[in-house]
Amino acid sequence: MTPHHHLRRPARSLALATTLAVIATLLSTLAGPTALAANPAGERDAERRSFVAWDSTVINPGGRIRAHGKLPGGKRKVALQVKVERSWQTIDTTRTNRKGKFRVAGRLDWYGKHRVRVLAPARRPFVRSTKARVLPPYAPVGNRKDFAFIHGTSVRKNYRFNPCQKITYRINSEDVGPEARPLIKAGMTQLSWATGLKFKYVGKSRLIPYTMAKRRHYPRGTDLVIAFATHAEVPDFDKRAAAGFGGPRWLHPARNSKGQRVWMTTEAGVTLSTDYWHNGFAHGYFDNTRATIGELILHEIGHAVGLGHVPAAPQEIMNGRGYYRYPDGYYKGLYNLGDLNGLSKVGLKQGCLRPVRAGRVTEVEVAEPPLS
Ligand SMILES: [Zn+2]
Repeated sequence: MTPHHHLRRPARSLALATTLAVIATLLSTLAGPTALAANPAGERDAERRSFVAWDSTVINPGGRIRAHGKLPGGKRKVALQVKVERSWQTIDTTRTNRKGKFRVAGRLDWYGKHRVRVLAPARRPFVRSTKARVLPPYAPVGNRKDFAFIHGTSVRKNYRFNPCQKITYRINSEDVGPEARPLIKAGMTQLSWATGLKFKYVGKSRLIPYTMAKRRHYPRGTDLVIAFATHAEVPDFDKRAAAGFGGPRWLHPARNSKGQRVWMTTEAGVTLSTDYWHNGFAHGYFDNTRATIGELILHEIGHAVGLGHVPAAPQEIMNGRGYYRYPDGYYKGLYNLGDLNGLSKVGLKQGCLRPVRAGRVTEVEVAEPPLS
């Protein structure tokens, strides 16, 4: 067979498809009267007058995707949904009024381009979709390609949390006082915006993830602990010349939305240096004299969700060698383009995970120490 034949083959199947489409149209025309009987004229008119208007589709976190419209068929349920890999997640629901009118407004605090839709479920569901964008409330710098995973280079081999489940976390800020808590929470908010993961603060803890004995678990209902610890408690701060550690601790066999085998993070830990809090980092996210605790927090929680270092990319928070001083003289606790791209790949965009049993293996402890 010559290449020429290869070229012609799609054309032939296109012709076939066209023929089939014509036949389908003919059949539906022939079936017309029956269809009309089942679908009174009024209903058809209502269908013709139905619409969805998208009022707001480019937002920052904190904003809402908004739409209004009119649907056929009296009072019915309407959902506003966002697409994730192989499924849709509902971000708002309402009902149409008697005239079929509705308004929906769903929060979408998850950076990136998304497909959103209005769905009115029924035997014949009404669906209209469009593109939406959630933009960071600042202009990230750097390069989209500058990210790395801790475990393996492919998205599939990296460890990640199940993005379709709330991730609960606790804070141990005993060493440094309550001032640290809102700073950590601000970091978690940024992480959530970048990944689409939902984190829920469930209280204080006295644990230090880094010093926990082998085979030890967090108490039930805790997926992540973020703790401050002194260099006396964690000598590795000095030995590894680090100000923090972060990474997954326990994994569970799982399948991704494509049915492939993956590892799901069930516990992760972050340990931050109390000594550097007292004598080192600026206590905030922006400072024009020195690197900030905000940058350190963002870096270590980035490890906790599966990102590694990008030593050749000084502008990224995940650089691993130090923090970037912007041309305006400031250190800024903000994820940049490579960070954001990497974080999007360990989050909701990749779809839900489903824990499975793999033979007798139900869970494994991450053998290697967390990254600093
Ligand atoms: Zn690091």
